[in-house]
Amino acid sequence: MAVFEIDHPLIRHKLGYLRNEKTHTPLFRQISGEMAALLAYEACHDLETERTTVESWAGEVEVDRLDGEHVTLAAVLRAGLGMLEGVLGQIPTASVSFLGMERNEETLEPHAYYEKMAPHTEGSTVLLIDPMLATGGTAVASIEFLARDKPARIKALFLIAAPEGIAKLEEAHPDVDIYTAVVDSHLNEFGYILPGLGDAGDRIFGT
Ligand code: URA
Repeated sequence: MAVFEIDHPLIRHKLGYLRNEKTHTPLFRQISGEMAALLAYEACHDLETERTTVESWAGEVEVDRLDGEHVTLAAVLRAGLGMLEGVLGQIPTASVSFLGMERNEETLEPHAYYEKMAPHTEGSTVLLIDPMLATGGTAVASIEFLARDKPARIKALFLIAAPEGIAKLEEAHPDVDIYTAVVDSHLNEFGYILPGLGDAGDRIFGT
């Protein structure tokens, strides 16, 4: 597993807004989308392209285009919706799957309470999108779910990741690469990331 912590002035600047508790919901949502777009840009660095020819104003020129390798986005409900528009802005032709995960209060294991999977994900590149990698339980369960459809590879995009979640994901799914704006310090006793940004879903949706 590779962990790409995107250390870039634009990302660091935007992260400051997310951490600021005074940032109101519309701005928080907007910036979550902008950061998600930048993470998607990085995560797509190795998509295959092919050469083709177009008629330009100056005659025929060779250009590159994505070679048809299909990309599927998998948004984890509900907070992943806050990143979705930003990622779709970069990859408008991507299909989108939705996964709702919750913890079974008896087994304490996460399970899918809702799923609407995009068809034809076999052989595709899947980008899992969820703002926070905290304990890693949801991410591990989501990836197990997505892997059933046999994608060629899964990459996971998080605005903020905790070391505990990274370790759990690496143990369960060493083949999945992580793209994140920052790896934070640790989790508190309630499983929240410190310093983090609080509850991402609440801040994105104003609840
Ligand atoms: N989920 C959140 O929304 N925030 C955290 O810090 C951890 C999990």
